[in-house]
Amino acid sequence: MKKVVAGVDIGGTNTVFGLVDENGKVLSHGTFKTTDYPKVENFVTTLASEIKKLLAAKKEYELAGIGIGAPDANYHRGTIEHAPNLAWKGIVPLADLIKKKINVPVAVTNDANAAAMGEMIFGGAKKMKDFIVLTLGTGLGSGIVIDGKMVYGHTGFAGELGHMTVVPNGRECGCGRKGCLETYASATGLVKTVIQLMSEMRDESPLRDIPPSKLTSKKIAEAAANNDPVAVRAMNETAAILGFGIINAIVFSSPEAIFLFGGLAQAGDLLFKPVRAYLKKNNYVLMKDTVKILPSEISESNGAVLGSAALIWNDLKN
Ligand SMILES: [Zn+2]
Repeated sequence: MKKVVAGVDIGGTNTVFGLVDENGKVLSHGTFKTTDYPKVENFVTTLASEIKKLLAAKKEYELAGIGIGAPDANYHRGTIEHAPNLAWKGIVPLADLIKKKINVPVAVTNDANAAAMGEMIFGGAKKMKDFIVLTLGTGLGSGIVIDGKMVYGHTGFAGELGHMTVVPNGRECGCGRKGCLETYASATGLVKTVIQLMSEMRDESPLRDIPPSKLTSKKIAEAAANNDPVAVRAMNETAAILGFGIINAIVFSSPEAIFLFGGLAQAGDLLFKPVRAYLKKNNYVLMKDTVKILPSEISESNGAVLGSAALIWNDLKN
């Protein structure tokens, strides 16, 4: 028999799942719409039958567990709690519901923690014990590993660096507070910064021809690559505020590396270079030049499935 783990990523729109072997190979995968299931019980029934279908394709597969990345997931309790982006309200006992359909170990955590676990088991953090993964997408998620262990905290929700205050009374955040890091250092934050700079700067820019609702971090990165002054300044300001947040994280846990993952990280050197320069100049003296800023080694396309599966592989390997 060949041990496999099911990795599941539950998103607001789509759910992606796959079978992953111990080397981080995605053997088979599938997807369905999360939004087709306003009742979580029906969602679980479909998910269980889809996983069983993948298993049935190969007789030698033995399911060792199911790892799940989901918004507002609580690792300690195996629950999804008050997720604004999902139809399931209140506290959803997801792990227990799944175990009733498929009786194997089930682990649930948020997508950023899953990304960090993927990095540790299958990616660039294989030999590291202290590192942080930042996922720079619509928001900013973080998975923090200290001494080889994921930090879940007292509540199970630890690692919310996206909601540390970087600008007192700054931009309004979806969490109800102001000036959180993710309102600046995320794909959405970059777009906001460009819109703000276009009203302050007089330079011509191809970005001015794009309606605000159509601006994306990808288009801004492309303009920055062509030396568009608005885009370049927006990139540099975003990198500086991200660097500011990163230094606050560094003084707390002294990581060996910070991995950047997600849409905004795709900007490559346009983001990495100014972040590294900011750290070189501003990092706390005892930790100067001790932290690598690295791109994630987990591919964007199957990263969510791999990371979720890594939750279980981590338990099996220890
Ligand atoms: Zn916030």
